Amino acid sequence: MTTLIQNGILVTETETFPADILVEEQRIAAIGQNLPAPADADVIDASGCYVLPGIIDPHVHIQLDTGVFRTADDWETGTATAALGGVTTVIDFATQFPHQTAKEGVAARHREVLGVETADPDELAQAQPQTPHPPYIDYALHCMLTVLPDEDEELDAWMQDQRGAGVSAIKIYTTYRPNYYQNDAELLRSMTAAAKADLVVMVHAENDAIVSDATQRLVAAGRTDLSNHGRARPGFAEIEAAHRVLFLADKARAELYIVHNSMGRTVELIAQARQRGQRVWSETCPQYLLLDERKYEGADAWRFIMQPPLRDPYQPAHLWQLLASGRVHSLGTDHCDYTQAQKLGLRPLQDDRLMARLAALGPRVQDVITARFGLFDGRPRTQEETAHYLNLPLEAVQQAEMIAFQRIPDLGERMMALIQDLQRLDPAATPPRLPFTQTPGGLPGLQTALPLMVTYGVMPGHITWPDLVRLMSANPARIFRLSHRKGALRPGLDADIVIYDPRGESVITDGEQATIGGFTPYKGMKVTGRVRDTFVRGQAIVRDGELIGPRGWGRYVAS
Ligand SMILES: [Zn+2]
Repeated sequence: MTTLIQNGILVTETETFPADILVEEQRIAAIGQNLPAPADADVIDASGCYVLPGIIDPHVHIQLDTGVFRTADDWETGTATAALGGVTTVIDFATQFPHQTAKEGVAARHREVLGVETADPDELAQAQPQTPHPPYIDYALHCMLTVLPDEDEELDAWMQDQRGAGVSAIKIYTTYRPNYYQNDAELLRSMTAAAKADLVVMVHAENDAIVSDATQRLVAAGRTDLSNHGRARPGFAEIEAAHRVLFLADKARAELYIVHNSMGRTVELIAQARQRGQRVWSETCPQYLLLDERKYEGADAWRFIMQPPLRDPYQPAHLWQLLASGRVHSLGTDHCDYTQAQKLGLRPLQDDRLMARLAALGPRVQDVITARFGLFDGRPRTQEETAHYLNLPLEAVQQAEMIAFQRIPDLGERMMALIQDLQRLDPAATPPRLPFTQTPGGLPGLQTALPLMVTYGVMPGHITWPDLVRLMSANPARIFRLSHRKGALRPGLDADIVIYDPRGESVITDGEQATIGGFTPYKGMKVTGRVRDTFVRGQAIVRDGELIGPRGWGRYVAS
């Protein structure tokens, strides 16, 4: 497959210049002016457009299972919405659940994405996805740690396993009890072990005691509607935790990456640590640059429930300044595809008695009914879709459904209630039924990040096009050890390319989102231009703003 992209303005992390790109065998073969078109080449005219290295989103949660909530998407949908946003590689997370080793957690995630049973990074990289919902674009993984082994030797071995599996980073948390939370001693152990294996340590930094106390006080006072979400997680809780993990990482000599900095002060602390010679990176997200806590006062507050929360209106301006001065190194979206039904807590989704009755009928029946009627995400599926989703024969789905309706006489009634709820899904008519403490946190962002950063970062002059490429492609590749394959327009690297047409204006709508949730926190915001084409290893996944596939083109990329 040979492709020549002509007449575009190339953007690297240092400059912009007019040039053509020749793509051969999934890689960039040549860059230059007036490159001759080989006879068999697919010639693409990029006149008037910017040609960027594909966006690498280093902070993504596709098909997320937190143990409490499960997002509604799968790897096909998740990577479709990414490709439409010009993203060519996502770095997602493999969770080491408490009963697993880190290696088992990562293997389970690969099995989910590719449907193959191997831990060998070379075999994984070759593996063609075997699942019903395979990815369109490439992926890499970070390893999210929960319960650590008692012995340091074993923890060291876990970290070496990660290196061997092509994973470049672990992620740990200073909050979220009981599973994810690590106390200071555990943080230090994780960091020390990671440093020995040269793994980056990603940290979600919020002071757990402060956040828990503030939350409990609000609950005790009956202040649990969504407008209180931000008050439960004050900005200084992030700053304190960042301060502490910087200290611990220095002690452990670990390379640190503090995720989703929502406070300008967090970024400043990181900059100071770097001046002292510490290896540490700052990540922020479009939501903290573009939105603020006033969103929690509106009827649409459910769209903005996330951790850390949106901040005071001064923070976005401060973060833009820090971004412009190069103190923020990486941009991630923290993408999460929860549905509106999950965010609002529609009735059957919250019906513990119904779930217990289903559970009593066995895991097969419970899985079928849960997926079929969208009991976890408010997205009912046909019998065929359910079979596809659960990887079961159609007859098994039909049989399980029959059993459920026989044993639970009012199941039909409950399902009607859900469907009525879904039909009334105008948030004004369907006020949130959940306290902020039980609303799943997380926003979709893959599809909108690039247009938003062009419109609100590059166009007003906060950052340049090369800054954008550094933040959204080159640095994520560099920090997470993918530069041998990705993150730049350079002969020999993967032909991951985005063509951005800066002409025209449009308004972001819920309807155009390719997520299952089908909503966006950026609804109503204007954007300049659009992602026209997305190429992953030379293959067109998006042309003229339309997803054209092919499904299952995505592969694992080892660091
Ligand atoms: Zn996250």
